[in-house]
Amino acid sequence: DERIAGIASAIRVIPDFPKPGIMFQDITTLLLDPKAFKDTIDLFVERYKDKNISVVAGIEARGFIFGPPIALAIGAKFVPMRKPKKLPGEVISEEYSLEYGTDKIEMHVGAVQAGERALVVDDLIATGGTLSAAIRLLERVGVEVVECACVIELPELKGRERLGDKPLFVLVS
Ligand code: IMP
Repeated sequence: DERIAGIASAIRVIPDFPKPGIMFQDITTLLLDPKAFKDTIDLFVERYKDKNISVVAGIEARGFIFGPPIALAIGAKFVPMRKPKKLPGEVISEEYSLEYGTDKIEMHVGAVQAGERALVVDDLIATGGTLSAAIRLLERVGVEVVECACVIELPELKGRERLGDKPLFVLVS
């Protein structure tokens, strides 16, 4: 698709952020380019509009930027999956391992119903730990996760393998 090159070139890479040796993929420059931002949303909407998806689950923080416009366009609800202690209501949470230690994501109880079909959205997949926790959280409450969608994949970190047989769709690798 000819739109992909424009999206890829609108993503800025910042070396040594947040710590030495990390090449941080910065999507804020993509947001500054209305054509590239719209193309990004359109590509996802074209893929998911006729897939009977009723839930778009967005992962904090940048899944909150890409998820809602996709949800609105396909007629799905948007469910935020947040870092611990941010959501005010009753939550269920799922832990995942990091290089050092663990982290957690949370979702409101009652936000989704068993049998719903969900798309999980984030800006980027690295090790896949975050997305795999989001999948487990949704599946625990009986939701079918149809696919995960990210703008960017870092393939050398093999995050795709951590998702098992769950399909992952990315725009830029
Ligand atoms: P993973 O759990 O190792 O796959 O890491 C993915 C999570 O970390 C996502 O929520 C991303 O937003 C964030 N992340 C990791 N590396 C980057 C990066 O280079 N740019 C933007 N976000 C990143």
